[in-house]
Amino acid sequence: MTRQTNRGRAAGVVIALTALMPAVALMSATPSFAAGVPCDSTLSPSEIKAVGISCRLAPATVVRVAEDLEVAVPEPGTVATVQLLRTHGSASPSAASVYRAADGQLALRIDGEAALGSTATAGALNRILAKPEPAGATKTQASLLAAAPAWCGSYTQYAFSGGVWVNSTYPWTYNSKSQPASDALQAIQYGFKFITDDSSACGTDWTAATSDYRGSTTRYTWGTRDNGNVVGWAGFDPGILGATYSWVDGSGFRVEVDIAFNNRVTNWFTGLSGTVPSGRYDLISVATHEAGHGFGLAHYTSSSYPVMYPTLGTGVNKRVKRSGDLTGMGVLY
Ligand SMILES: [Zn+2]
Repeated sequence: MTRQTNRGRAAGVVIALTALMPAVALMSATPSFAAGVPCDSTLSPSEIKAVGISCRLAPATVVRVAEDLEVAVPEPGTVATVQLLRTHGSASPSAASVYRAADGQLALRIDGEAALGSTATAGALNRILAKPEPAGATKTQASLLAAAPAWCGSYTQYAFSGGVWVNSTYPWTYNSKSQPASDALQAIQYGFKFITDDSSACGTDWTAATSDYRGSTTRYTWGTRDNGNVVGWAGFDPGILGATYSWVDGSGFRVEVDIAFNNRVTNWFTGLSGTVPSGRYDLISVATHEAGHGFGLAHYTSSSYPVMYPTLGTGVNKRVKRSGDLTGMGVLY
């Protein structure tokens, strides 16, 4: 009895939907490119031209900027950014951001170059990633940092990649899988401490930036948005030391950041000693750099003084926030 009643209702719903169909068909007349052929699962920068893409996005499309630099297309309204710290001598691109508009159009920015994509979509990417500096901020820093030694560089040597954390706090978890040594987490925690400290040997610049270590995790989802901020180890080409994956929402907030260090690098130095052995890559230095990305610092390429310079050599201790890194964190938070 009850069943029959339900069946009767279901039939009624089907009839009602059928009656609506002509109206629906009329309304969806022209989503132009969206009705076109599906995109390849891998897009090249040249496919994101001034006019935008002319295909319909596949479910898991990535934009391949270089053989070792790919950005997974994010959910609509957000920007995904990948930043690579390379070993010395590499000239490949070190950062790329992809914005996906609600209509499926994409914009792409490689390093600091002008964004590719339609005027509207590239403009939206630039707006989301723009961070206005408070008036007078750099003036204050100039006087605070004036006495720093030459190797600290200049207080103007910083750049932002876009987006800030709500409450100035970056919460993260650690996945120890394939870590090179049992003290790796300790080294990474020092990196987060050094990037959020108010002062360094290069001066003082107050920052509200805080990192919040929330323990270990077994998540393993680098490059994929899963609402968990995972720091850990992944396998990259030997010329890459670390990678940061960031997602920024339409309001300019950082909503997820994953950081992966290269588990294929066989000569990590994970110790605390300030004297990094020759031929070894200092994990604390790399972690300080990646944590800088985690908070929103971009690569600074015009001078090799800042921690945020996009390459690092062996035997180098670069754990000290330089003048530009201090100012960048102070202005950002
Ligand atoms: Zn980097």
